[in-house]
Amino acid sequence: MTDASTGATADQTSPKPEAESLPFQAEVSRLLEIVAKSLYSQKEVFLRELISNASDACDKLRYAALTRPELAADDTQFRIRLSVDREARTLTVADNGIGMDREDLVANLGTIARSGTLGFMNDLSGDSKKDMSLIGQFGVGFYSAFMVADQVTVESRKAGDEAGWRWSSDGKGAFTVEPEPGAARGTAVTLHLNEGEEEFLEEERLRHIVKTYSDHIAIPVLLEKGEESERLNRAAALWTRPKAEITADEYKEFYHHVGHAFDDPWLTLHYRAEGVLEYTNLLFVPSTPPFDLYNPDRQHHVKLYVRRVFVSDEAEGLLPPYLRFLRGVIDSEDLPLNVSREMLQSNPLVAKIRQGVTKRVLAEIGKKAKEDAEGYETFWTSFGPVLKEGLYEDRDQRDTLLELARFRTTEGDGWTSLEEYASRMKPGQDAIFFITGDDPDALRKSPQIEGFRAKGVEVLLLTDPVDEFWAPAVGEVNGHKLKSVTRAGADLSKIEGKVDKEDAPPPAEGMDALIAAFRKALEGEVKDVRASERLTDSPVCLVADDNDMDLHLERLLKQHKQLNASSKRILEVNPTHPLVRGLTGVEDEAQVAEMAFLLLDQARIVEGDPVPDPAAFSRRLANALQRGLSLAA
Ligand code: ADP
Ligand code: MG
Repeated sequence: MTDASTGATADQTSPKPEAESLPFQAEVSRLLEIVAKSLYSQKEVFLRELISNASDACDKLRYAALTRPELAADDTQFRIRLSVDREARTLTVADNGIGMDREDLVANLGTIARSGTLGFMNDLSGDSKKDMSLIGQFGVGFYSAFMVADQVTVESRKAGDEAGWRWSSDGKGAFTVEPEPGAARGTAVTLHLNEGEEEFLEEERLRHIVKTYSDHIAIPVLLEKGEESERLNRAAALWTRPKAEITADEYKEFYHHVGHAFDDPWLTLHYRAEGVLEYTNLLFVPSTPPFDLYNPDRQHHVKLYVRRVFVSDEAEGLLPPYLRFLRGVIDSEDLPLNVSREMLQSNPLVAKIRQGVTKRVLAEIGKKAKEDAEGYETFWTSFGPVLKEGLYEDRDQRDTLLELARFRTTEGDGWTSLEEYASRMKPGQDAIFFITGDDPDALRKSPQIEGFRAKGVEVLLLTDPVDEFWAPAVGEVNGHKLKSVTRAGADLSKIEGKVDKEDAPPPAEGMDALIAAFRKALEGEVKDVRASERLTDSPVCLVADDNDMDLHLERLLKQHKQLNASSKRILEVNPTHPLVRGLTGVEDEAQVAEMAFLLLDQARIVEGDPVPDPAAFSRRLANALQRGLSLAA
């Protein structure tokens, strides 16, 4: 990151360095306000956040020093030191990790560089618990220091650099940066505690907080007592400890640290894979969807360790993109430590780990689905749209994912699995029917599903954009074709349902002639005009020809400017509708043509498509109404 935004440059060699004052990015200022209010009930978490950052910094340097040992120089015993100065009322958290240079300080402690920040600010609900889990994801971490301190100073020297820096702020609207020749490698954060926060100067209190929140931190956390120091945490990587010894709270705290999260994990999965490949996994499924779930980079966030050494938090290929909601750690015994991150990508061991982990994670999610149907629905609501990406990306897991998938349908308001759907299929029904759109309630009213509803044939209501892609790719589930009801050839007549054809009045005479007249009138506007099997209440609807793009997908692509041309649709006419029946008796060819256009526009409107010529539509509508009135008069 450059400091172009501030237009400032620091000259490290100038004889009288002056502290430079820079404003916080607007979002930071707002965040600081919220943090101060929302976190109020659990102020002590600031310490966990600072220790978490210090631990990350040590992890980073340990990895960097593998290839550049000079970075860690002779100070390779990573540790985090807490020290208090009762007189000055300060608490300092110091690490000998990677450190920050001037640019890092400005970028990391003055802005929120993560994409989607603004949107997230607007999503804040005022419900402090919900907001906290949102805010937490945006790296509230460091700023939580301002809950207890009116002045925070950060002295830092980046590993490998000569120059150190000092960042300082009261958390109000600006911060200063200036050279600090005395800074040791790593980072020391000093909090000038507020009146009333003296408890954070007490040894006993600090000991307790570290034990509660940071015991799982693998780097020693030391409390300085004059010449001596006391280790406050266990300092063993949590995932290396036996499962039976780890409490739910310890898992939770580790999840908060590793996932930069504030919510409770919905699923915790801790196991060791043994055999050809050995690795330990400690993985979590969050209960709140992470803010960046739909970022275009679809980056996963599981940290890769090799024999307890942190390697990367974005190791490419370690997890499939459709599991990007997972948080946690994968620690491999087999990967080489001294490979660059770029080399990891193409490492066949990484692919093997991915396959193993994917299988196991999906199996665990499946177990949860059986054990706790209600909780699973919440999970599915949050992460189903992401998992469904796997249906077209990962053929190996397709069947498993199809079992995990849940759908809204025309039957009831709940979620349905494909297995349940299959068990409710009607005699003669050989396909799984679905309709795609933006909103389940609108879809329930679609004319295309009228006939299905009348026969009691269930239709899946697919409302995630991803549905447009997996459904055609999957094609068939357990021998049943997946069929869009907005396509031609629904073959409803073969299905035995609640009402059969005989219950409906037979089509009027002259229906063939009317359809022929419509075809002629609408030539060039539609691909074909056909008598419909699927309509019961509406006079007309549009469907896509079997090989054309489905209606909703086309709309979607157009919205995203991915598509200009439209495919021509098929207009289906309901032969049992009174208006259509009435039209078979009209001899005036021009009037029939006008009605054909009017009905076509009506079908477009119902579909949510624009009417291409609103003036003509309005003229025809006025004519038709006028005729209707004069008939009645
Ligand atoms: P997060 O840890 O979720 O990224 P924080 O607000 O806790 O968010 O920290 C912001 C950033 O500041 C970190 O990502 C890191 O780059 C930097 N940072 C904070 N503390 C330290 C530290 N002790 N050493 C090095 N970098 C740090
Ligand atoms: Mg942090």
